[in-house]
Amino acid sequence: MAQTVFAPWADPNEKPLIEFRNVTKRFGDFTAIDDLSLDIYAREFFALLGPSGCGKTTMMRMLAGFEAPTEGSILLSGHDIAPVPPNKRAVNMMFQSYALFPHLSVWENIAFGLKRESKDKAAIAARVDEMLKLTRLEKFARRKPHQISGGQRQRVALARSLAKAPKLLLLDEPLGALDKKLRQDTQFELMDIQEKTGTTFVIVTHDQEEAMTVASRVAVMDEGKLIQVATPAQIYEQPGSIYVADFIGEVTILEGHGEKVGDAYEFAFAEGQPRLHAKTSRDLGAAGRMYLAIRPEKVSISADKPEDTPNVLKGRILDIAYLGNISTYHVELSNGQIIKAQEANTRRLSRRSFTWEDEVWLSWTDTAAVVLER
Ligand code: ATP
Repeated sequence: MAQTVFAPWADPNEKPLIEFRNVTKRFGDFTAIDDLSLDIYAREFFALLGPSGCGKTTMMRMLAGFEAPTEGSILLSGHDIAPVPPNKRAVNMMFQSYALFPHLSVWENIAFGLKRESKDKAAIAARVDEMLKLTRLEKFARRKPHQISGGQRQRVALARSLAKAPKLLLLDEPLGALDKKLRQDTQFELMDIQEKTGTTFVIVTHDQEEAMTVASRVAVMDEGKLIQVATPAQIYEQPGSIYVADFIGEVTILEGHGEKVGDAYEFAFAEGQPRLHAKTSRDLGAAGRMYLAIRPEKVSISADKPEDTPNVLKGRILDIAYLGNISTYHVELSNGQIIKAQEANTRRLSRRSFTWEDEVWLSWTDTAAVVLER
């Protein structure tokens, strides 16, 4: 059966669930969000990514209703949310601290918001049980928060946030308190729960890998502006700028002079180094100053000069970072430029073919690198 790809942002007939329309937020004379427009669609798992202070939390707080835009408007299902107080919005925010009530049981924590809204005990009990099942917490219903693990507490917070069936759930560093292994497992759980409930999630995370794993789309922000909004694959493979290329994952960025030849750019970056070739659908003009971004895993490393490849450079191994499953080689060219190449460690260490100071050849295909303007 053919699976339809989830991409409502690409469908002109789809209406966004959330619309930021030219939103500016100032604190005194400091502009935290700068004339920003953004659409987020129902059922998306949308990640906000960017350096500390770029405005991620401010975006979330405006959605939740804890802050109001200075200019512009935010729409939820087509309606301006400005006049709607936080507790009347179909929006819930899950904080990193989880903010569980320590004296209440897991069951009572999840029921808390529901009890304030409804007196129907049977309906509340049914909903809490449903949430316990969804988050696999049935066994822990009677325990207090200090009697369960960090991962379980995280699930209680999630169950409580979803109990009132919000249209939109805001997650501020939801896995920040968990260790790496548990964090990775929980990412998949979060995706599973998001899919089962059909709730739209907006997540703030410092962890780029996490954003790339869970998100349908990622917004890379800087200084209150959106730099690029795209799927994780596009952000990684087709970064729109050096900023984005550099922000996510490892990359080598070469600065040089590009010249358009057919559907590719010929790229000269240093005296005595061969020209490089990069195919692209982008038009950066006939010729000029530009940049070439190349991911280390796209660079092959070999002892002998490879034949029939559009990009070949000679260098010397300066450094090797052994990461267990992969190794990253830092290879220095004769002009001092360092290029990173990554290899999967499918062979045992003792049989590894390269070591420090080895002369090696680097090569990549003409579609492996991305040409970029500043
Ligand atoms: P982090 O990743 O560190 O949490 P962030 O991207 O979430 O950062 P925000 O909390 O949105 O950043 O803050 C954006 C900018 O706005 C920061 O420079 C911050 O100092 C400023 N800011 C946030 N809230 C206020 C406030 N109430 N008064 C003044 N400035 C504020």
